[in-house]
Amino acid sequence: MTKRLYDCGNCPAYCCSYDHVEVTDADLARLARHLEVEPAVAERRFTKRGRGKGRHLRVLRHRKDKHFGTACRFLDPRTRQCGVYEARPSICRTYPGTGRCGFYDFLCAERRAQENPAYVPSFTRG
Ligand code: SF4
Ligand code: SF4
Repeated sequence: MTKRLYDCGNCPAYCCSYDHVEVTDADLARLARHLEVEPAVAERRFTKRGRGKGRHLRVLRHRKDKHFGTACRFLDPRTRQCGVYEARPSICRTYPGTGRCGFYDFLCAERRAQENPAYVPSFTRG
């Protein structure tokens, strides 16, 4: 098993600031069950049309975020935890897909440079 060299509990959740977190039909059905709403309601409330992989995608909606400008609407702005963890989309489950997370490496490098273990380098996308 690949050793995990990142700690999501020590990270402000950079990956949740991606504009295009895809929600497949299976993801939507899981989210709807978890939130106890009809899939059509979940789709309208929590997703929007986006683009990625050269095609149109159904993606998670965002809301304002203090670190990134915007981030996934399910990201708790205070705890930085996922509000639908058990029902999160497949892509969130598999990210980053290796033992290393580039965002976490970046975060650790910045914290070392600032000599501040709590430092959070912010950025806005776009
Ligand atoms: S950016 Fe990397 S370390 Fe941070 S929450 Fe996402 S996967 Fe975890
Ligand atoms: S569903 Fe959860 S893990 Fe996925 S982007 Fe949103 S807050 Fe992050």
